Amino acid sequence: MNADLHSHSTASDGALPPGDVVRRAAARGVEMLALTDHDQLDGLQEAREVAGETGTVLIDGVEISVTWRGVTLHVVGLGVDDGNPALRAGLEGVRSGRIERAREMGRSLERSGIPGSFEGALALARNPAMVSRTHFARYLAQCGRVAGTKDAFRHYLVPGRPGYVPHRWAQLADALCWIGDAGGRAVLAHPGRYALSASAMASLLAEFRGAGGSAIEVVTGSHSPDQYALFGALAIKHGLAASRGSDFHGPDEGAELGSLPALDPRLRPVWEGWEH
Ligand code: AMP
Ligand code: MN
Ligand code: MN
Ligand code: MN
Repeated sequence: MNADLHSHSTASDGALPPGDVVRRAAARGVEMLALTDHDQLDGLQEAREVAGETGTVLIDGVEISVTWRGVTLHVVGLGVDDGNPALRAGLEGVRSGRIERAREMGRSLERSGIPGSFEGALALARNPAMVSRTHFARYLAQCGRVAGTKDAFRHYLVPGRPGYVPHRWAQLADALCWIGDAGGRAVLAHPGRYALSASAMASLLAEFRGAGGSAIEVVTGSHSPDQYALFGALAIKHGLAASRGSDFHGPDEGAELGSLPALDPRLRPVWEGWEH
């Protein structure tokens, strides 16, 4: 099964409209795709319409921004009902404050000699409420301040650098409740990206599972092969299923749809039983 359960469209910080993400996935042999825009369900209807034409199974998803012990985590919800009031209200709360944060990022960059980045990032965001660091990175690359979006993150948009503005996102337990209330399964996204010690990661996984989490992403665009092995072992140890998702944001921006290695057959896939 070529399952890709993590992808983004212009409904958040992806480069392609939802329908184009689905068409691209189908063309690349993806049999089951989850569209998982950040804190946002708006792309799902268009994605569903196109998936009906292509034969790719579409899983309705979302990627929720969470603050846990001061660290930003991402929790993917899979198979959520996008009309669920608890989920919708929760996401609205998470989204509020993004634009103010972006204004503050713009002011911070201006203080280090880069004017106009708030307006520049906003112009690149189809939905202004979802303006994100990715839009700032694209703006900084397009205006030639950095060689590419990777450098924009390295030099400007991460903790300790100008342009980084800390933000308080959802509580982990709340995000898991909204996903559960909406009938979905919660997956801890790209665990290899968090700056956590081994013991903090073990606490996180125990807390995540205890609060209703189902799976962790093992094979994902930002993991190395060593991390596939590490997080596969942690999934087994903590009794969690495993997921595979590219975290596709656009052509030439990180991993391609459906192109990553398969899960280790010893792992229990989160999509088991969803084929139809
Ligand atoms: P935000 O939700 O505004 O903090 O933006 C987070 C998004 O920035 C993530 O979903 C990624 O798409 C992107 N991102 C974060 N860190 C990096 C990085 N080091 N390199 C490239 N993209 C990144
Ligand atoms: Mn993103
Ligand atoms: Mn993420
Ligand atoms: Mn993502």
